[in-house]
Amino acid sequence: MWKGSRFNVSVPSDDGYVAVVNMLNRGVLSVPPSVVSLCEEASVAQEELERLKLKILADYGFLVPEEEDEHNRFHEWYQFVSSDLSHIHCTVSVTSACNLACPYCFEKGNLQSSYQTMSRRGAVRLVEWLDEFADCAQSEEVVLYFYGGEPTLVPELLHHIVAQARKRNADKRRLSFGIYTNAAKLSESLISLFRADDFRFAQVSLDGPEEVHNRRRLTRSGEHTFEEVWRALELLSCECRIQAKVVVNFDNDNYASIPSLLDLLRSSRFGHKIQLAFNPVFVTKGNQTYCMSHVPPERESYHMWKELHQEAIRRGLKVSYLRLLDKGPCSLHRIGHFFVSPSGKIFECIGLLGMEEFATADVNTRFRPKTVEQRRKWLERISRLRSDCVKCPYVPLCLGGCRFKALCETGNVSGHVCHKEQIECCELPLISNLAHLRNMDDEFDSNAC
Ligand code: SF4
Ligand code: SF4
Repeated sequence: MWKGSRFNVSVPSDDGYVAVVNMLNRGVLSVPPSVVSLCEEASVAQEELERLKLKILADYGFLVPEEEDEHNRFHEWYQFVSSDLSHIHCTVSVTSACNLACPYCFEKGNLQSSYQTMSRRGAVRLVEWLDEFADCAQSEEVVLYFYGGEPTLVPELLHHIVAQARKRNADKRRLSFGIYTNAAKLSESLISLFRADDFRFAQVSLDGPEEVHNRRRLTRSGEHTFEEVWRALELLSCECRIQAKVVVNFDNDNYASIPSLLDLLRSSRFGHKIQLAFNPVFVTKGNQTYCMSHVPPERESYHMWKELHQEAIRRGLKVSYLRLLDKGPCSLHRIGHFFVSPSGKIFECIGLLGMEEFATADVNTRFRPKTVEQRRKWLERISRLRSDCVKCPYVPLCLGGCRFKALCETGNVSGHVCHKEQIECCELPLISNLAHLRNMDDEFDSNAC
Protein backbone atom coordinates (compact mmCIF):
# COMPACT_ATOMS: atom_id res chain seq x y z
CA MET A 1 0.00 0.00 0.00
CA TRP A 2 1.10 3.56 -0.73
CA LYS A 3 0.26 7.01 0.62
CA GLY A 4 0.75 10.53 -0.75
CA SER A 5 4.03 12.08 0.38
CA ARG A 6 3.64 14.85 2.94
CA PHE A 7 6.10 16.87 0.87
CA ASN A 8 3.76 17.03 -2.16
CA VAL A 9 2.47 20.48 -3.11
CA SER A 10 0.01 21.09 -5.96
CA VAL A 11 0.22 24.09 -8.27
CA PRO A 12 -2.70 24.58 -10.69
CA SER A 13 -1.91 26.04 -14.10
CA ASP A 14 -4.03 27.86 -16.69
CA ASP A 15 -4.23 24.85 -19.04
CA GLY A 16 -6.20 22.82 -16.48
CA TYR A 17 -3.26 20.63 -15.54
CA VAL A 18 -1.70 20.66 -12.10
CA ALA A 19 2.02 20.56 -11.34
CA VAL A 20 2.68 18.32 -8.36
CA VAL A 21 6.00 19.21 -6.75
CA ASN A 22 7.71 17.01 -4.22
CA MET A 23 9.73 19.31 -2.01
CA LEU A 24 11.98 16.58 -0.67
CA ASN A 25 13.16 15.01 -3.92
CA ARG A 26 12.46 18.11 -6.08
CA GLY A 27 10.44 16.11 -8.59
CA VAL A 28 7.74 17.82 -10.67
CA LEU A 29 4.97 16.11 -12.54
CA SER A 30 2.27 17.80 -14.59
CA VAL A 31 -0.92 15.79 -14.23
CA PRO A 32 -4.69 16.07 -14.74
CA PRO A 33 -6.61 17.03 -11.54
CA SER A 34 -7.90 13.45 -11.18
CA VAL A 35 -4.34 12.24 -10.56
CA VAL A 36 -3.64 14.97 -7.98
CA SER A 37 -6.13 13.44 -5.59
CA LEU A 38 -4.15 10.17 -5.73
CA CYS A 39 -1.05 12.08 -4.55
CA GLU A 40 -2.99 13.25 -1.52
CA GLU A 41 -4.56 9.98 -0.47
CA ALA A 42 -3.65 8.17 2.73
CA SER A 43 -3.91 4.72 1.20
CA VAL A 44 -3.48 3.59 -2.43
CA ALA A 45 -3.30 -0.09 -3.36
CA GLN A 46 -0.47 -1.32 -5.59
CA GLU A 47 -3.02 -2.97 -7.93
CA GLU A 48 -4.82 0.35 -8.34
CA LEU A 49 -1.55 2.05 -9.32
CA GLU A 50 -0.82 -0.65 -11.86
CA ARG A 51 -4.36 -0.55 -13.25
CA LEU A 52 -4.07 3.20 -13.77
CA LYS A 53 -0.53 2.85 -15.19
CA LEU A 54 0.67 5.32 -12.58
CA LYS A 55 3.59 3.46 -11.03
CA ILE A 56 5.67 6.55 -11.80
CA LEU A 57 4.04 8.27 -8.80
CA ALA A 58 5.74 5.74 -6.54
CA ASP A 59 8.96 5.58 -8.59
CA TYR A 60 9.52 9.32 -8.14
CA GLY A 61 8.46 9.59 -4.49
CA PHE A 62 5.07 11.29 -4.96
CA LEU A 63 3.65 8.20 -3.28
CA VAL A 64 5.60 6.53 -0.47
CA PRO A 65 5.11 3.18 1.29
CA GLU A 66 2.23 3.46 3.74
CA GLU A 67 4.41 2.47 6.71
CA GLU A 68 7.21 4.91 5.87
CA ASP A 69 8.13 7.54 8.46
CA GLU A 70 8.84 10.54 6.26
CA HIS A 71 10.27 12.38 9.21
CA ASN A 72 13.17 9.92 9.21
CA ARG A 73 13.56 10.19 5.47
CA PHE A 74 13.80 13.97 5.80
CA HIS A 75 16.47 13.65 8.51
CA GLU A 76 18.51 11.17 6.48
CA TRP A 77 18.36 13.52 3.53
CA TYR A 78 19.37 16.49 5.70
CA GLN A 79 22.28 14.57 7.20
CA PHE A 80 23.47 13.67 3.72
CA VAL A 81 23.13 17.18 2.26
CA SER A 82 24.60 19.01 5.24
CA SER A 83 27.58 16.67 5.67
CA ASP A 84 28.50 16.31 2.01
CA LEU A 85 32.15 17.32 1.71
CA SER A 86 32.80 15.98 -1.77
CA HIS A 87 32.84 19.59 -3.02
CA ILE A 88 34.10 22.41 -0.86
CA HIS A 89 32.80 25.89 -1.67
CA CYS A 90 34.74 28.67 0.00
CA THR A 91 33.83 32.32 -0.56
CA VAL A 92 36.59 34.61 0.61
CA SER A 93 36.19 38.31 1.19
CA VAL A 94 39.67 39.44 0.17
CA THR A 95 38.92 43.06 1.01
CA SER A 96 36.02 44.92 2.56
CA ALA A 97 36.89 48.07 0.58
CA CYS A 98 34.73 48.97 -2.42
CA ASN A 99 35.12 51.47 -5.25
CA LEU A 100 31.36 52.06 -5.64
CA ALA A 101 28.94 53.96 -3.43
CA CYS A 102 25.60 52.21 -4.03
CA PRO A 103 23.05 53.87 -1.75
CA TYR A 104 21.40 50.54 -0.81
CA CYS A 105 24.65 48.64 -0.08
CA PHE A 106 23.88 45.55 2.03
CA GLU A 107 27.31 45.58 3.61
CA LYS A 108 27.29 49.07 5.08
CA GLY A 109 27.69 48.85 8.82
CA ASN A 110 28.79 45.23 8.57
CA LEU A 111 31.83 44.18 6.54
CA GLN A 112 32.31 47.79 5.55
CA SER A 113 32.24 49.20 9.08
CA SER A 114 36.04 49.28 8.96
CA TYR A 115 38.00 48.60 5.80
CA GLN A 116 40.25 45.58 5.91
CA THR A 117 42.22 43.65 3.29
CA MET A 118 43.54 40.12 3.63
CA SER A 119 47.33 40.06 4.04
CA ARG A 120 49.57 37.92 1.80
CA ARG A 121 50.40 35.84 4.86
CA GLY A 122 46.67 35.49 5.61
CA ALA A 123 46.12 34.32 2.02
CA VAL A 124 48.73 31.58 2.45
CA ARG A 125 47.09 30.46 5.72
CA LEU A 126 43.72 30.35 3.96
CA VAL A 127 45.06 28.11 1.18
CA GLU A 128 46.82 25.82 3.67
CA TRP A 129 43.71 25.54 5.83
CA LEU A 130 41.55 24.73 2.82
CA ASP A 131 44.01 22.12 1.63
CA GLU A 132 44.13 20.42 5.04
CA PHE A 133 40.33 20.46 5.23
CA ALA A 134 39.99 19.00 1.72
CA ASP A 135 42.62 16.32 2.50
CA CYS A 136 40.84 15.34 5.70
CA ALA A 137 37.43 15.24 3.97
CA GLN A 138 38.86 13.54 0.85
CA SER A 139 37.08 16.15 -1.25
CA GLU A 140 36.99 15.81 -5.02
CA GLU A 141 36.82 19.52 -5.72
CA VAL A 142 37.49 22.89 -4.14
CA VAL A 143 35.76 25.97 -5.54
CA LEU A 144 37.15 29.28 -4.35
CA TYR A 145 35.03 32.40 -4.92
CA PHE A 146 36.49 35.88 -4.49
CA TYR A 147 34.18 38.33 -2.78
CA GLY A 148 34.42 41.79 -1.26
CA GLY A 149 33.82 44.67 -0.80
CA GLU A 150 35.18 44.59 -4.31
CA PRO A 151 37.79 41.87 -4.96
CA THR A 152 39.08 43.43 -8.19
CA LEU A 153 40.65 46.20 -6.06
CA VAL A 154 43.39 43.75 -5.03
CA PRO A 155 44.45 42.02 -8.28
CA GLU A 156 47.88 41.01 -6.96
CA LEU A 157 46.34 39.29 -3.98
CA LEU A 158 43.97 37.37 -6.27
CA HIS A 159 46.93 36.23 -8.41
CA HIS A 160 48.78 35.21 -5.25
CA ILE A 161 45.87 33.13 -3.89
CA VAL A 162 45.24 31.50 -7.27
CA ALA A 163 48.94 30.57 -7.65
CA GLN A 164 49.16 29.18 -4.09
CA ALA A 165 45.92 27.23 -4.44
CA ARG A 166 47.00 25.70 -7.76
CA LYS A 167 50.28 24.63 -6.19
CA ARG A 168 48.63 23.02 -3.13
CA ASN A 169 45.82 21.27 -5.01
CA ALA A 170 47.70 20.07 -8.10
CA ASP A 171 47.10 16.35 -8.75
CA LYS A 172 44.97 15.99 -5.64
CA ARG A 173 41.57 17.32 -6.68
CA ARG A 174 39.77 19.63 -9.11
CA LEU A 175 40.10 23.30 -8.37
CA SER A 176 38.09 26.17 -9.78
CA PHE A 177 37.63 29.85 -9.13
CA GLY A 178 34.84 32.38 -9.30
CA ILE A 179 34.33 36.04 -8.49
CA TYR A 180 31.58 38.37 -7.27
CA THR A 181 32.39 41.73 -8.81
CA ASN A 182 30.82 45.06 -9.71
CA ALA A 183 32.99 44.82 -12.88
CA ALA A 184 33.56 48.58 -12.89
CA LYS A 185 37.30 48.23 -13.46
CA LEU A 186 38.81 45.08 -14.89
CA SER A 187 42.54 45.55 -15.50
CA GLU A 188 44.56 43.54 -18.06
CA SER A 189 46.13 41.64 -15.17
CA LEU A 190 42.69 40.51 -13.97
CA ILE A 191 41.52 39.62 -17.45
CA SER A 192 44.52 37.31 -17.81
CA LEU A 193 43.36 35.56 -14.62
CA PHE A 194 39.82 35.18 -15.96
CA ARG A 195 41.04 33.66 -19.22
CA ALA A 196 42.44 30.61 -17.39
CA ASP A 197 40.42 27.40 -17.78
CA ASP A 198 39.98 26.96 -14.03
CA PHE A 199 38.38 30.41 -13.64
CA ARG A 200 34.77 29.43 -14.23
CA PHE A 201 32.23 31.70 -12.52
CA ALA A 202 31.46 35.40 -12.21
CA GLN A 203 28.57 37.26 -10.64
CA VAL A 204 28.04 40.85 -11.75
CA SER A 205 25.40 43.40 -10.68
CA LEU A 206 23.47 45.43 -13.22
CA ASP A 207 20.64 47.63 -11.96
CA GLY A 208 18.90 48.78 -15.11
CA PRO A 209 19.51 50.34 -18.53
CA GLU A 210 22.38 52.82 -18.80
CA GLU A 211 20.79 55.90 -17.24
CA VAL A 212 19.32 53.98 -14.29
CA HIS A 213 22.38 51.85 -13.60
CA ASN A 214 24.58 54.93 -13.72
CA ARG A 215 22.38 56.70 -11.20
CA ARG A 216 22.40 53.81 -8.72
CA ARG A 217 25.88 52.37 -9.13
CA LEU A 218 28.35 55.26 -9.23
CA THR A 219 31.99 55.08 -8.22
CA ARG A 220 33.01 56.83 -5.00
CA SER A 221 34.31 59.67 -7.14
CA GLY A 222 31.00 59.94 -9.01
CA GLU A 223 31.88 58.19 -12.32
CA HIS A 224 29.35 56.18 -14.31
CA THR A 225 29.90 52.43 -14.57
CA PHE A 226 27.35 51.03 -17.06
CA GLU A 227 29.63 50.97 -20.10
CA GLU A 228 32.44 49.24 -18.22
CA VAL A 229 30.09 46.63 -16.77
CA TRP A 230 28.49 45.93 -20.15
CA ARG A 231 31.92 45.48 -21.78
CA ALA A 232 33.03 43.27 -18.90
CA LEU A 233 29.99 41.00 -19.29
CA GLU A 234 30.70 40.60 -22.99
CA LEU A 235 34.34 39.82 -22.30
CA LEU A 236 33.65 37.37 -19.47
CA SER A 237 30.94 35.42 -21.30
CA CYS A 238 32.18 35.51 -24.89
CA GLU A 239 35.98 35.66 -24.64
CA CYS A 240 36.84 34.20 -21.24
CA ARG A 241 33.99 31.66 -21.49
CA ILE A 242 33.09 32.20 -17.87
CA GLN A 243 29.63 31.25 -16.61
CA ALA A 244 28.36 34.71 -15.75
CA LYS A 245 25.37 35.51 -13.60
CA VAL A 246 23.81 38.97 -13.69
CA VAL A 247 22.13 40.05 -10.47
CA VAL A 248 19.61 42.88 -10.65
CA ASN A 249 19.04 44.55 -7.28
CA PHE A 250 15.60 46.13 -7.40
CA ASP A 251 13.31 48.41 -5.41
CA ASN A 252 10.78 51.13 -6.29
CA ASP A 253 13.54 53.30 -7.72
CA ASN A 254 14.52 51.04 -10.66
CA TYR A 255 11.73 48.45 -10.96
CA ALA A 256 9.90 50.05 -13.90
CA SER A 257 13.12 50.27 -15.94
CA ILE A 258 14.09 46.60 -15.66
CA PRO A 259 12.06 45.35 -18.69
CA SER A 260 14.17 47.72 -20.85
CA LEU A 261 17.32 46.18 -19.38
CA LEU A 262 15.96 42.73 -20.24
CA ASP A 263 15.36 43.87 -23.85
CA LEU A 264 18.95 45.10 -24.03
CA LEU A 265 20.25 41.81 -22.66
CA ARG A 266 18.14 39.80 -25.08
CA SER A 267 19.55 41.62 -28.08
CA SER A 268 23.15 41.52 -26.80
CA ARG A 269 25.88 39.09 -27.91
CA PHE A 270 25.98 37.51 -24.46
CA GLY A 271 22.31 37.59 -23.39
CA HIS A 272 21.76 33.89 -24.16
CA LYS A 273 24.87 32.85 -22.22
CA ILE A 274 24.23 34.55 -18.89
CA GLN A 275 21.96 33.56 -16.06
CA LEU A 276 19.80 36.22 -14.39
CA ALA A 277 18.75 36.65 -10.78
CA PHE A 278 16.61 39.34 -9.17
CA ASN A 279 17.41 40.50 -5.65
CA PRO A 280 14.94 42.66 -3.75
CA VAL A 281 16.82 45.34 -1.81
CA PHE A 282 16.21 44.65 1.88
CA VAL A 283 16.91 46.50 5.07
CA THR A 284 20.20 45.84 6.83
CA LYS A 285 22.01 47.63 9.62
CA GLY A 286 23.51 50.29 7.37
CA ASN A 287 20.95 51.07 4.63
CA GLN A 288 17.84 51.94 6.62
CA THR A 289 17.55 55.57 5.49
CA TYR A 290 17.64 54.54 1.80
CA CYS A 291 15.17 51.70 2.37
CA MET A 292 12.62 53.91 4.13
CA SER A 293 12.02 55.86 0.93
CA HIS A 294 12.66 53.22 -1.77
CA VAL A 295 11.86 49.73 -0.54
CA PRO A 296 8.20 48.61 -0.79
CA PRO A 297 6.52 46.41 1.84
CA GLU A 298 7.80 42.85 1.70
CA ARG A 299 4.66 41.41 0.09
CA GLU A 300 4.91 43.91 -2.74
CA SER A 301 8.60 43.05 -3.23
CA TYR A 302 7.66 39.38 -3.69
CA HIS A 303 5.18 40.30 -6.38
CA MET A 304 7.69 42.52 -8.15
CA TRP A 305 10.16 39.62 -7.97
CA LYS A 306 7.63 37.28 -9.59
CA GLU A 307 6.74 39.79 -12.31
CA LEU A 308 10.41 40.31 -13.16
CA HIS A 309 10.94 36.58 -13.53
CA GLN A 310 7.95 36.34 -15.82
CA GLU A 311 9.27 39.24 -17.93
CA ALA A 312 12.64 37.47 -18.25
CA ILE A 313 11.06 34.12 -19.10
CA ARG A 314 8.85 35.77 -21.75
CA ARG A 315 12.03 37.08 -23.40
CA GLY A 316 13.65 33.63 -23.36
CA LEU A 317 16.35 34.66 -20.86
CA LYS A 318 17.74 32.13 -18.38
CA VAL A 319 16.66 32.83 -14.81
CA SER A 320 17.61 31.08 -11.62
CA TYR A 321 14.07 31.18 -10.26
CA LEU A 322 13.44 27.59 -9.45
CA ARG A 323 15.54 27.44 -6.31
CA LEU A 324 12.83 25.16 -5.04
CA LEU A 325 13.71 22.64 -7.73
CA ASP A 326 17.43 22.79 -8.08
CA LYS A 327 19.09 24.27 -5.06
CA GLY A 328 17.98 22.75 -1.80
CA PRO A 329 19.01 24.34 1.45
CA CYS A 330 21.27 27.38 1.41
CA SER A 331 24.97 27.26 2.30
CA LEU A 332 24.26 27.81 6.00
CA HIS A 333 23.17 24.17 6.14
CA ARG A 334 26.12 22.75 4.22
CA ILE A 335 29.27 22.18 6.19
CA GLY A 336 31.30 22.14 2.96
CA HIS A 337 30.20 25.72 2.15
CA PHE A 338 31.54 28.66 4.14
CA PHE A 339 32.69 32.27 4.01
CA VAL A 340 36.00 33.76 5.10
CA SER A 341 36.48 37.38 6.18
CA PRO A 342 39.60 39.43 5.34
CA SER A 343 40.95 38.62 8.83
CA GLY A 344 40.58 34.87 8.20
CA LYS A 345 37.49 34.20 10.36
CA ILE A 346 35.05 31.57 9.06
CA PHE A 347 31.30 32.20 8.85
CA GLU A 348 28.49 29.84 7.86
CA CYS A 349 26.27 32.44 6.17
CA ILE A 350 27.08 35.20 3.70
CA GLY A 351 24.85 37.65 5.58
CA LEU A 352 26.75 37.11 8.82
CA LEU A 353 30.16 37.46 7.16
CA GLY A 354 32.27 39.92 9.13
CA MET A 355 30.12 39.88 12.30
CA GLU A 356 32.84 38.55 14.56
CA GLU A 357 30.41 37.22 17.18
CA PHE A 358 29.13 34.69 14.61
CA ALA A 359 32.52 33.34 13.48
CA THR A 360 32.75 29.57 13.88
CA ALA A 361 36.43 28.95 13.05
CA ASP A 362 39.58 30.75 11.95
CA VAL A 363 41.96 29.86 9.11
CA ASN A 364 44.81 31.29 11.19
CA THR A 365 44.36 28.38 13.58
CA ARG A 366 45.64 25.12 12.14
CA PHE A 367 42.84 22.92 10.75
CA ARG A 368 41.73 20.10 13.07
CA PRO A 369 38.98 17.56 12.25
CA LYS A 370 37.14 18.68 15.39
CA THR A 371 36.72 22.13 13.77
CA VAL A 372 34.04 20.57 11.55
CA GLU A 373 32.19 19.30 14.63
CA GLN A 374 32.37 22.72 16.28
CA ARG A 375 30.91 24.34 13.19
CA ARG A 376 28.17 21.72 13.03
CA LYS A 377 27.22 22.30 16.68
CA TRP A 378 26.96 26.03 16.09
CA LEU A 379 24.69 25.41 13.13
CA GLU A 380 22.47 23.06 15.13
CA ARG A 381 22.18 25.64 17.88
CA ILE A 382 21.03 28.52 15.71
CA SER A 383 18.81 26.64 13.29
CA ARG A 384 16.73 24.37 15.50
CA LEU A 385 13.42 23.81 13.69
CA ARG A 386 10.21 25.13 15.23
CA SER A 387 7.26 22.73 15.48
CA ASP A 388 5.36 24.46 12.64
CA CYS A 389 8.45 24.04 10.43
CA VAL A 390 8.73 20.34 11.22
CA LYS A 391 5.22 19.86 9.80
CA CYS A 392 5.63 22.22 6.86
CA PRO A 393 5.96 20.72 3.33
CA TYR A 394 8.50 23.43 2.44
CA VAL A 395 10.95 22.50 5.17
CA PRO A 396 13.45 20.78 2.79
CA LEU A 397 13.64 24.05 0.91
CA CYS A 398 13.85 26.63 3.66
CA LEU A 399 14.76 24.71 6.82
CA GLY A 400 13.08 27.10 9.18
CA GLY A 401 13.95 30.35 7.44
CA CYS A 402 16.90 32.57 6.61
CA ARG A 403 18.98 33.25 9.73
CA PHE A 404 20.29 36.56 8.41
CA LYS A 405 16.75 37.76 7.76
CA ALA A 406 15.87 36.67 11.29
CA LEU A 407 18.76 38.74 12.64
CA CYS A 408 17.77 41.81 10.60
CA GLU A 409 14.08 41.58 11.48
CA THR A 410 14.08 40.31 15.05
CA GLY A 411 17.56 41.23 16.25
CA ASN A 412 18.16 37.54 17.01
CA VAL A 413 19.83 35.08 14.64
CA SER A 414 17.56 32.30 15.97
CA GLY A 415 14.46 34.51 15.69
CA HIS A 416 11.21 33.61 13.96
CA VAL A 417 10.82 34.31 10.23
CA CYS A 418 8.63 32.34 7.83
CA HIS A 419 8.89 32.15 4.02
CA LYS A 420 5.59 30.37 3.38
CA GLU A 421 3.87 33.36 1.83
CA GLN A 422 6.84 34.10 -0.43
CA ILE A 423 7.05 30.48 -1.59
CA GLU A 424 3.32 30.17 -2.22
CA CYS A 425 2.65 33.57 -3.80
CA CYS A 426 5.79 33.89 -5.89
CA GLU A 427 7.93 30.84 -6.28
CA LEU A 428 5.34 28.10 -6.78
CA PRO A 429 3.31 29.95 -9.47
CA LEU A 430 6.49 30.19 -11.57
CA ILE A 431 6.53 26.42 -11.89
CA SER A 432 3.79 26.61 -14.50
CA ASN A 433 6.19 28.68 -16.64
CA LEU A 434 8.35 25.65 -17.21
CA ALA A 435 7.88 25.13 -20.90
CA HIS A 436 8.25 21.38 -20.77
CA LEU A 437 5.40 21.12 -18.29
CA ARG A 438 2.93 22.60 -20.74
CA ASN A 439 2.94 19.89 -23.37
CA MET A 440 2.62 16.78 -21.33
CA ASP A 441 -0.93 15.94 -22.19
CA ASP A 442 -1.28 12.17 -22.23
CA GLU A 443 2.46 11.67 -21.88
CA PHE A 444 2.56 12.93 -18.31
CA ASP A 445 3.74 9.56 -17.07
CA SER A 446 7.15 9.91 -18.67
CA ASN A 447 8.04 13.43 -17.66
CA ALA A 448 9.17 13.54 -14.08
CA CYS A 449 12.25 15.70 -13.78
S1 SF4 B 1 20.80 31.92 6.10
FE1 SF4 B 1 19.99 33.43 4.63
S2 SF4 B 1 21.65 34.89 4.14
FE2 SF4 B 1 22.51 33.06 5.19
S3 SF4 B 1 23.22 31.75 3.55
FE3 SF4 B 1 21.12 31.09 4.08
S4 SF4 B 1 19.72 32.27 2.74
FE4 SF4 B 1 21.78 33.25 2.65
S1 SF4 C 1 9.93 29.07 8.00
FE1 SF4 C 1 7.83 28.87 7.28
S2 SF4 C 1 8.05 28.12 5.17
FE2 SF4 C 1 10.00 27.78 6.20
S3 SF4 C 1 9.87 25.66 6.99
FE3 SF4 C 1 9.19 27.04 8.62
S4 SF4 C 1 6.92 27.12 8.41
FE4 SF4 C 1 7.77 26.33 6.48
